Amino acid sequence: MSLPKLYLKPREEKRLLAGHLWVFSNEVDVKRSPIKGLPAGQQVTVCRTDGKAIGSAYVNSASLICARIYDKRADVKIDEAWLKHRIGDALQLRSKQFEQPYYRLVHGEGDYLPGLVIDCYDDVLVLQINTAGIEAVKTTLIEVLKELLSPRAILLRNDTPSRDLEQLPQHVDWVFGDPVPTVTLIEGGATFEADLVTGQKTGWFYDQRDNRKRALEFVKGAKVLDLFSYTGSWTVQAALAGATSVTAIDASQPAVDQLRQNAILNGVEERVTGICANAFDFLKSAKAEGQRFDVIVLDPPAFIKRKKDWEEGRAAYARANKLAMEVLAAGGILISASCSYHLLTEQLHRVVLGASRQVRRDLQFIHFGQQGLDHPVHPAIPETAYLKAVFCRLL
Ligand code: SAH
Repeated sequence: MSLPKLYLKPREEKRLLAGHLWVFSNEVDVKRSPIKGLPAGQQVTVCRTDGKAIGSAYVNSASLICARIYDKRADVKIDEAWLKHRIGDALQLRSKQFEQPYYRLVHGEGDYLPGLVIDCYDDVLVLQINTAGIEAVKTTLIEVLKELLSPRAILLRNDTPSRDLEQLPQHVDWVFGDPVPTVTLIEGGATFEADLVTGQKTGWFYDQRDNRKRALEFVKGAKVLDLFSYTGSWTVQAALAGATSVTAIDASQPAVDQLRQNAILNGVEERVTGICANAFDFLKSAKAEGQRFDVIVLDPPAFIKRKKDWEEGRAAYARANKLAMEVLAAGGILISASCSYHLLTEQLHRVVLGASRQVRRDLQFIHFGQQGLDHPVHPAIPETAYLKAVFCRLL
């Protein structure tokens, strides 16, 4: 049976034909295909004015992104076979590249599975269902995951802000297996505990893995500062790689408690100091006290969440980078990251350069990092390339 048709207005197909997956509400010919009459999550075939099909999509008239294309062919339904195929493709990339089962298995649009995120913690899966289209196929999805991966437990971390945009309720629920609130994961030879239910995102930031690894080249014998440390992913690995001391700063007390626990798990607690503080305040007092660090990791939360916050967010990045540079030793390394997709790579570079001019120091870019390969980028959707990290040396 064929799917209902969603007609675009004249000439609105260009971006989609170039590979993009999103249809915006102002691009739909609502007279011809009244999208408001379709239930949220309904699957449709997207058509040009002349009736030629562009692909299959699911809709949600409540969202500005009113349809997301999940298949280039017409009349394709998201069923068991389709999900198996797509998730199988995602699994193939990861199982070739990762020896251990700790990674992001599905990165939404980057894996041609719009609206879905799956993080694996060995045999515990954590899902974020971000759209009504995925919500509508949830039962089949869970069955497919059980069959493909034989998980011990599946958790829905459906407490993401994007669900608000889709008018979906926020909730966190175990939908399969016995609850496993805390898991152990391994990264770079270090062991960490992650709290899947109350932790940030799904409990861990897999996206920085490659950058953390690269950072280890600089930490031997160094005094390291890890700003916005969360539960110690950079801190613990730096201490294991031979840093003489690591000071970790995070504003969340539970994150700092977990960081200390993670340091103990790896036997590096004597060289790790976890401090619950506002990173900006910490940097100001560290400067006043004349403290200096050889390597600084600056990996803040997204300061620019919406485009309209761009200037304010850019200013926050600028402030953080300047303050960090003021406590960085001569010849020291600053790893400056941003996970705001609204801040383009060149814009981050300009922010860092601007900060170095303010503190009157010469700056070198020595390495450019990005999200790991378990977070594939969709070539036509710049939003999927959100993470950048520039490794700097300051003279
Ligand atoms: N660097 C971490 C991820 C950081 S996420 C990693 O790779 O695992 C951002 C962190 O910043 C969160 O843990 C949050 O608690 C913390 N945070 C947010 N605002 C802060 C502030 N003003 N000062 C210090 N920490 C802050």
